[in-house]
Amino acid sequence: MFILRHISKIYDDASTPTEALKDVSLVFERAGLVALCGPSGSGKTTLLNIIGGLDHQTKATKDFDKSYLHYPEGEFIVSGVLTDNFDEDDWDTYRNERIGFVFQNLNLLAHLSVLENVELGMILAGEEAPARREKALEALKQVGIADFAETTSAQLSFGQKQRVAIARALANDPDVILADEPIGSLDTQTGREIMVLLKRIAEKKLVIMASHNEAVVEEFADRIVRIKDGEVQSDTTKHDTERVKGRKHLQQRTTIPFLSAAVLSFRGFRAKLLRNVLAMVATGLGVAGLALVMGIAIGFSGELRKIERDTLTTLPVSIYQNPAHTPYVAAAYSAAPIRDDSLWFNPIEFTRSRSVRANNINDAFLNHLDGLYDSLISGISYRYGVSMPFMRDSGGTLVDSDAFGIRLQPLADNTPYLQSQFEVRAGRYPENDREVVIIVDIENNIDSAILSFFGLEEEEVAFEDVLGKELVVVFNDDMDIDFDIAENRFNREMGAPAYENGIVLTLVGVLKGIPSGVETMTTGLFYPDTLEEAYIAENIESDFCKAIMDLDLFDIESVETRSNIVYQRRLNGCRDTPNVIDIFPSSLDDKTWVLHHLNVYNWNVSETNQIAYTDHAAVLSSFLGSVSNNVLFTLLALGVISLVVSLMMVVVLVYIGLLERRREIGILRSLGASRKAINRVLNIEVAMAGFVAATLGIAAAALLSWPLNVLLRGALIGFGDIVQVRFLPSVALIVVTTLLTYGVSIIPTRKVTDVSPADIIRGAE
Ligand code: ADP
Ligand code: MG
Repeated sequence: MFILRHISKIYDDASTPTEALKDVSLVFERAGLVALCGPSGSGKTTLLNIIGGLDHQTKATKDFDKSYLHYPEGEFIVSGVLTDNFDEDDWDTYRNERIGFVFQNLNLLAHLSVLENVELGMILAGEEAPARREKALEALKQVGIADFAETTSAQLSFGQKQRVAIARALANDPDVILADEPIGSLDTQTGREIMVLLKRIAEKKLVIMASHNEAVVEEFADRIVRIKDGEVQSDTTKHDTERVKGRKHLQQRTTIPFLSAAVLSFRGFRAKLLRNVLAMVATGLGVAGLALVMGIAIGFSGELRKIERDTLTTLPVSIYQNPAHTPYVAAAYSAAPIRDDSLWFNPIEFTRSRSVRANNINDAFLNHLDGLYDSLISGISYRYGVSMPFMRDSGGTLVDSDAFGIRLQPLADNTPYLQSQFEVRAGRYPENDREVVIIVDIENNIDSAILSFFGLEEEEVAFEDVLGKELVVVFNDDMDIDFDIAENRFNREMGAPAYENGIVLTLVGVLKGIPSGVETMTTGLFYPDTLEEAYIAENIESDFCKAIMDLDLFDIESVETRSNIVYQRRLNGCRDTPNVIDIFPSSLDDKTWVLHHLNVYNWNVSETNQIAYTDHAAVLSSFLGSVSNNVLFTLLALGVISLVVSLMMVVVLVYIGLLERRREIGILRSLGASRKAINRVLNIEVAMAGFVAATLGIAAAALLSWPLNVLLRGALIGFGDIVQVRFLPSVALIVVTTLLTYGVSIIPTRKVTDVSPADIIRGAE
């Protein structure tokens, strides 16, 4: 059945090459117990490995420099098939179907049960579970230890293990059993029992055993081949080795079915549970880190978008007579968006007090604004820079705003804006221009003089306490106004007549800027700005206004006096052209058209009459956008680092794990598992670990996000949950991690399995 003709083996890995086999020619029949006898180092194991297909002869032409080799090139023929043309798959199949190994050190897998050890070769052959089990039990019965099927091999004595190893060799019904020193480590009694067993097996099969125990061998062996220094010394049965020739290929290939592979993986995984769990925890932490980073990225930009959606739509496009008033000075000049890179000066008309150009808000522009479609805007609010003086009857005595140094400020007459920017903390929003409100900033700050004016001097004043209080706005003609132009001194006296003729306003609410809005710092006493027009209509006819409007500024020498006159005209309601205009677009889309409308005006007027406007929403969103980009890039970098670290963990995990399991890999290979199949088993194992680790990592991140959000709450005004571990990204992360772990495990796996099984087996001895 086996013909070895002129087989030589030279190990060339040491400094001096070892000739382990020298021109060995032997023929083995279909059955019988053949003993290879010889001292240690004579080449017995090498010969068994070559017969078993674990190792191959050294070929002069192919593998080796001819000068070493003094022997003719050999041939190894199996059942008439010359093995010269065997590829790796053929050898795998050969081992799996024809050979049963009993290794010198047995090489049972400690983490599998006795039965599973015996089943291993059949799993590799793709045998169905019930048939496999039956055959394995049959083999165990044959060697006489069926009772131990369910125990792990670690619990058995050496003699019993020897029987399991023989059962494993027998289970897949091979043509030949190769046993390396099967009785070498046994006491005489047990050794004899094993020999009886082998002898019985040899009635039907070929059994080739290596041994140096002459006495036992003489008693049991049908044939004894004596080897020394790699040469056959004697053979009790001579054959003509030149007889048979053959050229044919073996057909069937060994594959590990997927499910069996997964089962093997799981068992292997369980065997090194602690180390695997530790490595998985590390991987899981990496994934958790990435999940958190992604959660922050998602949560942060999501919250940002929410803020933008909630607030930006309601923000006005503002036109200031003097653009320096705008809180976002740098971005205020949207009307001249194109940068001029020439080296020529551009002389424009500046106001004297500030180095910015004043907007010329004239009738032409106001008419143009009237042409805006109503559907595009929710309203336009005009302000005139009025400061209305006001009084109050404080238990019989009249007090006035000048004495307290306080002012009324205008509130944009636009309900959506008010509701998006302010929340009611007491009372309600103003509903008409006879109602005023107090607004507190985020710290509930209020000018104490305002409370004093209303007679609220106590230590603690509640919001509720101001509701229902009244004040009276007074007109110019009811006061004594004295403006000493020469001294540039303005003074006014309010008395009972002013109080009687004034407009009564009632305090109806206390408001507060909402955290995500732009009015968080606003504080003071406010009235709906529609009141201004009524007030101006009355005052513009007053004696004071007529007088101050009649003044010719060119007659005034002092610059201070001149600007004070301009200031007092507005303050006292003598000017009916607005100095601040807030246009409230209906939506962000409509805003585009509003801006277009403004640009149309600018295209049609001279440069000095062009109107610069401030798009608050654009300014705010570009600011938020740049903040969010910075944050997101930082997080992205962290995420990538986290991912790389966790992948490195996987590579380390795989490599350490594989080095530990080289012996198992060798055994599987000797049983006929193809390298590809083993790679697959190991890769599945790693992917499984990656999957579990990623899932646990996500779970950890989800759990962590909760306290993190509690911790971060309030860190950014207006933000809700900043860390949001969402379902779909999590699933994606698990899938990606699993695939990546599978991917990165491929190379280290290849590296470890890319060695000859003989080396692994021998290396384990
Ligand atoms: P035996 O099994 O009879 O003790 P072996 O077949 O194991 O003998 O070894 C035969 C010779 O080959 C010995 O001299 C041994 O040192 C050498 N040898 C075996 N395996 C290797 C190897 N992988 N590399 C180098 N030398 C080896
Ligand atoms: Mg040996």
